[in-house]
Amino acid sequence: MNNLISETDGKTFEGGCHCGVIRFRAIGPLRQILMCHCSDCLKITGTSWGATAVHQDDFTFLTEARPRWYRSSEWAERGFCEICGSQMLYRRDNAPLVSIAPGALDNSDGLTVSGQIFADSHPAWGPLCTGLEDLDNTYPRGE
Ligand SMILES: [Zn+2]
Ligand SMILES: [Zn+2]
Repeated sequence: MNNLISETDGKTFEGGCHCGVIRFRAIGPLRQILMCHCSDCLKITGTSWGATAVHQDDFTFLTEARPRWYRSSEWAERGFCEICGSQMLYRRDNAPLVSIAPGALDNSDGLTVSGQIFADSHPAWGPLCTGLEDLDNTYPRGE
């Protein structure tokens, strides 16, 4: 995994959905946040999406409740709360990572942003608030 944040190594991050039914824990190192402006993210979240990521072995659910997984493309699915609709998780087929929306974390201090992908395909009104490095060649189809 590229772009790990060394300061998060061994640190515990807890988070969950807006209504609180789903809770989870991730143990660092966490990856830097990658912003994604693809049409799937725009359609599903309303605007661009971004995610940090952790190795799946360092990710556990703390509740019985689990997200519903929606297959948003041929290569990935997204985990959301079917009660409150929070879009929290993303996992790419055959990748040992769980991507986590930083806003789902209770405390995301210390996280940083590495860059963005699919900025070129964003509609003309955006992407908003970004002057980020384009990493389209670094993250094939996003993580
Ligand atoms: Zn919820
Ligand atoms: Zn996307």
